[in-house]
Amino acid sequence: MALIGIDLGTTHSLIAYYKDGKANLIPNVHGSFLTPSVVSVEKDGNILVGESARERFISHPDNSVHAFKRMMGTAREWQSGKRKFRPEELSALVLRSLKQDAENFLGEPVSEAVISVPAYFNDIQRNATKQAAAIAGLQVTRLINEPTAAALIYGLNDSEDDKKYLVLDLGGGTFDVTILEYFSGVFEVHASAGDNHLGGEDFTQVIIDWINQECVSKKLECPSNVMAYKLAEAAKKQLSKSSAVEIPVSDTDVLLFDQAQFEKIANSLINRIREPIIRVMQDTELTPADFNDIVLIGGSTRMPVIHQFVTKLFKRFPRQTENPDHVVALGAAIQAGLIARHEELNEVVMTDVMPYSMGIATHNESEPDNHIFTPIIERNQTVPVSKEERFSPITDKQSEVELKIYQGESRFAANNLYLGELSSPMPQDLKKRYVDVRFTYDVNGLLEVIATTGDGSHQRLVIQQTEGRMSDQEVDEAFKKLAELKIHPREKAVNKALTIRLDRLYEQAIGERREQIGEWISTFNKTLATQDEKRIAADVKALQKILDEIENRDWF
Ligand code: AMP
Repeated sequence: MALIGIDLGTTHSLIAYYKDGKANLIPNVHGSFLTPSVVSVEKDGNILVGESARERFISHPDNSVHAFKRMMGTAREWQSGKRKFRPEELSALVLRSLKQDAENFLGEPVSEAVISVPAYFNDIQRNATKQAAAIAGLQVTRLINEPTAAALIYGLNDSEDDKKYLVLDLGGGTFDVTILEYFSGVFEVHASAGDNHLGGEDFTQVIIDWINQECVSKKLECPSNVMAYKLAEAAKKQLSKSSAVEIPVSDTDVLLFDQAQFEKIANSLINRIREPIIRVMQDTELTPADFNDIVLIGGSTRMPVIHQFVTKLFKRFPRQTENPDHVVALGAAIQAGLIARHEELNEVVMTDVMPYSMGIATHNESEPDNHIFTPIIERNQTVPVSKEERFSPITDKQSEVELKIYQGESRFAANNLYLGELSSPMPQDLKKRYVDVRFTYDVNGLLEVIATTGDGSHQRLVIQQTEGRMSDQEVDEAFKKLAELKIHPREKAVNKALTIRLDRLYEQAIGERREQIGEWISTFNKTLATQDEKRIAADVKALQKILDEIENRDWF
C-alpha cells in the first residue's frame, strides 16, 4: 500500500510518498509538484481543478474559487450557476486530483493519506479537513501539524542530535509558530500557537488597497478586482527578489512600489506575527538564545520584510535551507512512513501538543448571562491527553445540566470558539447529583467528550453538530455528488490549461499580438484535431515556452 503525505495548502497543494527511508514529491499531470488549490466551473458545468482552474480564475473570476482553505469549518458556500459548494467539497476536488496524480505516478490505488493542517487549526477545521478527505475517497491515517511535518525534515537532515527549533510557518492563509526539540530520535513538540487568519493573501490584500488608493489619488483609472489581485500578487513576489518594482496599472500608467512602502502598509500584519511567538516562548519559558535554529517555512516567509522582522526579533538570521514549499508534504510522507513503522524510521518517535485550551462554560455569579470558561485541558499539553473534572448543578431543582463546550483562552466562554453542547440528566439522589466530564484529545487533534453522572450511568456523548460542521449524512451525499460531477479528465488537463491560457492572453492583448495569439490558437486546435499525442505534446511544450516569455511574470 502506498504511503502518502498531502500538504493541502491555501494556494497550492502537494503530494509526496514514502519509500526506502526517503520521502519524494509526486508531480502532477503538468509535471509540477505544486497543484494550485483552485476550482473553476465552465459554462457546461465541467469542473476544472488545479492548473487549468488557475488559468481560468484570471479570465473568469466569478466562476472560479481559490483560498477556500480559509473557509474550512464555516457554513459559507460558494455558488456557481445552480450548484453550491461547501469548502469541504472544494478541498475534496483538490484532494481527488492529487489522489489521481499519485495513482497515476505510482501505478497503484491510493486510499489512505496523512494530511497536514496548520497547527493552530481548531477542532471544527480539523474535522472539516477529514470530511474533505472522506468526500474525495481518502481515509486520513493522521492529521499532522504543518510545522511539525516540516521539522521532521529539518531534524532528520541534521547530523547533530539534541536541537531546539522554533518553526515559523507563514503560508497563504495561516500563520503558525511551533517550538520543538529533537533528541536521540525523539521529536517533541513543546508548544504551538498561531493566527488562522493571517497569511500571504493578507499581504497581497494590503498591496491591492494601496494600488487602488494610489490610482484614486493620482486620478488614474483603477484596475479591475482581478487585475489588481494579479498585479499585487506579482509585485509582492518580485519584491522578494528586488528592492523596488514597477506596477503597470494600465497600458500607460505605472506605479513605483518599494520595500519601504511595503513595510509601511504591512506593518500591522507584521506586528500580528509577534504575539503568537511571544506566547509560545512564555508557555515554554524559553528565550531566543535557547534555540539552535529559527526555521522558516511556507511560501510567504520568502518576503524580505518577514526575514528582517525575524532577524531583529531573534538577533540572528533565520534558517531556510529546505524548499519552504516542499517540506510540509515531505514531512507528511515521513509521518506516513512512521505510522507504517518502516524499518528505516524505527528509531524516530514523535510527540505533538494541542495548541488550545478546551473546556466548558460554567456559571458566573456576578454576571449570570456571561458564562465563565473553565478549561478542562489547558493548552500545550502533549497529545493524546485525557482529563476529567467534576461539575454539579447550580440549583437542587435542575433535572439536567447543560455542557457547552468551547476552545480558546478567554476567561469568558462567549469570546472563545463554541464547539457544541451536550446535556446530561441529573439523578434525584442529592449525593449523586454531579457529572464527571472527560475530555480526550487524540493524536489528530480531535476532541471527544464523555459525561458520566453520579448514579454511575455511564454515557458516551457525542458533540452535536455546529453550524460549520457537516453531518455524516451530508458527507455521504457529498461523496456521491462528487462522483456525479463532470470533472475534466486528468489526461487532457495539460491541453485544457494551455487552451484557457491562450484564450485569456488573446482577450488581454490587442493589435498585432492579438493576431499572433489568434494564429497560435488555430494552429493548436488543428494539432489537437490530429489526435497525434506526440505532435500535441511538442506543440504544448513550444507554446508554453513562448507564453512564459510573453508573460514573464510570477502569478500566484
Ligand atoms: P503556501 O500556503 O505555503 O502555499 O503559501 C503560499 C503563499 O506564499 C502565497 O500567499 C504566495 O503569495 C506566497 N509566496 C510564494 N512565493 C512567494 C515569494 N517569492 N514572495 C512572497 N510571497 C510568496
